[in-house]
Formats: sequence, structure tokens, C-alpha cells
Amino acid sequence: MSLLSIRLFGDPVLRLRAGEVTDFDDALRRLADDMLQTMREADGAGLAANQVGVLKRLFTWEAGDEHGAFVNPEVLETSEEIQEGDEGCLSFPGLFYPTKRPLRVSLRINDVHGEEHKIESATPLQARIFLHELDHLNGILFIDHLARHDRKEAMRRIRNGELEHPRPRPEGEPPPA
Ligand SMILES: [Zn+2]
Repeated sequence: MSLLSIRLFGDPVLRLRAGEVTDFDDALRRLADDMLQTMREADGAGLAANQVGVLKRLFTWEAGDEHGAFVNPEVLETSEEIQEGDEGCLSFPGLFYPTKRPLRVSLRINDVHGEEHKIESATPLQARIFLHELDHLNGILFIDHLARHDRKEAMRRIRNGELEHPRPRPEGEPPPA
């Protein structure tokens, strides 16, 4: 396995739509393994292929004891109930802002062998991660969901060069995705 380099905000690949995966081959499984390792090394909760410069509909995630690699994910349903909480992103190291997300989501996914599964988020954190990563595959970033004043502040901090490169996560801060 090898560590991949995580693209930061400003890299155009983060604004592109990733393409459907059609070949469930060893190269895909190697990419998923590398992404999982890269995500863990960066102390993240999720990582989409766009974030390592690969335009394939694939993301990895980890929350508590559970982790996975989801291919060609599609949202089947989201709850009307909303959760609010701080969210961060490995492509915006050091930035965390309150971000509204549905409390629950169900997905249709393929695993890395091409088998189809229906997935229900087991926790609000899982729902948040799944929806954050799905956004990445469509070129959408968490700053797009922020309240106007938070978004302005985030853009100002980015312009000032405040995106911190990988750093230890302070206690109590949620894992970025
Ligand atoms: Zn992210």
C-alpha cells in the first residue's frame, strides 16, 4: 500500500464530477486500500477519490469500529430531520464550521467487487460522512453548505493562507472528511 497526496482547496479536481466505476478490478481495490490508509494517516473520517486526484466514484470512510469503501454510491432517501454540528474536510485542513445535514441517509452502493448493497447510516456521524463524500464525487464542497457569514470567513481565512497542512487533531474536534 502507498500513501497518496491529498489535494487542497484550489485544486480544480475538487470541483469536477467523478465518473462511474465500470471495472471492479485489482487496480480499484488497490486504490481503495491506498485511500483508506491515506485517510487514516491524515486522521480523517472519510476520503473521496477526487481528493487524491482520481475522478472515480469511490470513497472510503471510518467511524468508530466501522469502515468501508463505497463505489458508485447513490442516495435512495434522506431523513427530513436535520442535524447540526461542526464539519471539516481533509482538503481544508484546520477549518471547521457548523454544517447542516440530514440525520439519516440510505444509499445504494457497489462494493469493490461490484456487488450491490443497500446501506443505512447507523449513526448521525455516518450520515454526515456519507453525504459529505457523495458531495465530493459531484464537485460539491462543504463550504458550499455554510451559512453566508461562515462561508465569507472561511474564504477570508483561505485567502490569508490559513489552511494548515496535516496536523494533530486537537481533542474534541471532529475528524475531517
Ligand atoms: Zn471533504
